Amino acid sequence: MREEEIIVVALGGNAILQPGQPGTVEEQLENVDIACRHLTEIMSTGKYKMVITHGNGPQVGNLLLASEAAGHIIPPIPLDVCGAATQGMMGYMIQQTLANHLRAAGLRHYITTVVTQVIVDKNDPAFKRPTKPIGPFYDFAEGERLHWERGWEVIEDSKRGYRRVVPSPKPLAIQETRIIRNMLDNGEIVIAVGGGGIPVVREKDKSLRGIEAVIDKDLAVGRLAEDIDADILMVLTDVEQVMLNYGEVDEVGINRMTVDEAENYLKEGHFGEGSMKPKVEAGISFVKAGGEKTIITALNKAVEALEGKAGTIIIA
Ligand code: ADP
Ligand code: MG
Repeated sequence: MREEEIIVVALGGNAILQPGQPGTVEEQLENVDIACRHLTEIMSTGKYKMVITHGNGPQVGNLLLASEAAGHIIPPIPLDVCGAATQGMMGYMIQQTLANHLRAAGLRHYITTVVTQVIVDKNDPAFKRPTKPIGPFYDFAEGERLHWERGWEVIEDSKRGYRRVVPSPKPLAIQETRIIRNMLDNGEIVIAVGGGGIPVVREKDKSLRGIEAVIDKDLAVGRLAEDIDADILMVLTDVEQVMLNYGEVDEVGINRMTVDEAENYLKEGHFGEGSMKPKVEAGISFVKAGGEKTIITALNKAVEALEGKAGTIIIA
């Protein structure tokens, strides 16, 4: 029998909380339920060992909002601890729901969430130029006030309003790589690197320390896929395909692109900063490092895409 391939699946923010939803646990569980149905379909093929990662944008946003609203009674929660909190709560929802689906399908259902730290460089230029929007949207006046009162960097984000921006350093290494790989080898499904992982820096004495930043989920998941020697990187988001001329009248979906083609499209600026670009970058890097293929598609096309019938595939 052919050995199972290792697939790393990244669930986009939308898979768990959709824009406009207030974010009750019931809503999140309903969305997680849909995601887990698709993941169960993938596992039912019997071809894969799976690592699942997920975005945490809306959840961290709500946590920051709650922390802010209760600011007069409870001390603020630093971003690294917010990251750990959302990994735990989202990991819990996914591991319970997925186990229920797998059990119902008569499949093995050993699933664990790993609270994952991702090492970044203290001297990463990103710390001098914060770019990653987090938390709620503010109007112009509120944005100005937060900038002066709290020293936050605030920018206009996608014409919807003003938001705090934090540094988004490059992920250098996943601290729990070996543990994750061992768990996979033992037949477990692993949930890891949620929300891009908890950013930590390594001090001169080798100790680790959390830092206020947000690591791009797609770059972190790419790092993980490379470091555990995965075969397939699959990024599930809210569009079925990567597009050329995205948002223009002549936009067109890409079925497959080689690493060289993808690099050219990157240079030509087809992929949105902070949304599609990091997915394609991670996909290219993964394949260059020896990965078999990267697939970018929508959650409900995951199985078809694995059969080569949907989505966008990046190959050598
Ligand atoms: P996720 O939570 O899955 O990371 P993102 O919003 O970060 O979701 O990324 C997906 C979004 O990328 C799409 O909804 C789309 O608006 C945007 N996007 C930017 N450039 C492209 C492109 N070239 N092709 C397709 N989608 C693109
Ligand atoms: Mg994203």
